[in-house]
Amino acid sequence: RQKAIATPNKTKEILNKFGFSFKKSLGQNFLIDVNILERIIHHAGINKQTGTIEIGPGMGALTEQLAIHSNRVVAIEIDQRLVPILKETLEDYSNVEIVNEDILKANISKIIDSNFETDQKIKVVANLPYYITTPILMKLLMDRLPVSSFTVMIQKEVAERMAAQPNTKSYGSLSIAVQYYTHASVVMNVPKTVFMPQPNVDSSVLHLEVRDSPPVEVEDEEFFFNLVQACFGQRRKTLRNNLARHFSSTLNKEQIEIHLNKAEIDGTRRGESLNMEEFARLARAFTIKEK
Ligand code: SAM
Repeated sequence: RQKAIATPNKTKEILNKFGFSFKKSLGQNFLIDVNILERIIHHAGINKQTGTIEIGPGMGALTEQLAIHSNRVVAIEIDQRLVPILKETLEDYSNVEIVNEDILKANISKIIDSNFETDQKIKVVANLPYYITTPILMKLLMDRLPVSSFTVMIQKEVAERMAAQPNTKSYGSLSIAVQYYTHASVVMNVPKTVFMPQPNVDSSVLHLEVRDSPPVEVEDEEFFFNLVQACFGQRRKTLRNNLARHFSSTLNKEQIEIHLNKAEIDGTRRGESLNMEEFARLARAFTIKEK
């Protein structure tokens, strides 16, 4: 613990030694507090059998803790300048693999196949680069990788949106998209002071437990997600109006009402009041006519 990378002094020492300068465009805000890291590890629920994937290891602050507490870490980092640094900071750990790639382009299935046992539990743990949090998580979820959970530090507001329940300000199509694949919860809020440099936004740790199967029956996922998005299209408008807009080229007002009735959903409601099951009912009712 004394040797931990995640302290202000150690981080500065590494910065100086390698003449490293942070790239804001890559969302480089490094953690300098071991205590926070241990709490993230705790929430991730990993043990010495777990395989872990980290996105954006930076200088290895979290990677080190994952190496200590899990079976094996594969850390995917886009910034080539960090590769020699990580080689040195993590030299004491033989269970770490650094992959110098862009997470959005990497073949993660292949990385999993070549680094972990077929029956091994795999978890993603990361302090994500904030500028691409949503694309990263949506890509990994939609790819349906053999990953059992995600425990990620992200921007507080985004975490709240992903875990939001109906009738709240944060609830929207992102809540449905994430919760279709996972059970989502915000497990802790994190102050700016644990980062170097400090970010402009507040952070939270979001835990996503991947579902074995979707919570609702949906025939065509793309159609479902587009419909959900349309229902939140203009938040102040009624469901009826948002749907009329979305289906303006295929359905008239009477037909919209017929489908709403079939789904047993009141068209004067607002999108933000519908739960996932109701959105699924809506999608099923509208799909029949559409095809
Ligand atoms: N894990 C380190 C820590 O907690 O101190 C660093 C976290 S920092 C918020 C985000 C890291 O993600 C940076 O190291 C950055 O270079 C890396 N990164 C940014 N975009 C990436 C991408 N598309 N693919 C992989 N890594 C990326």
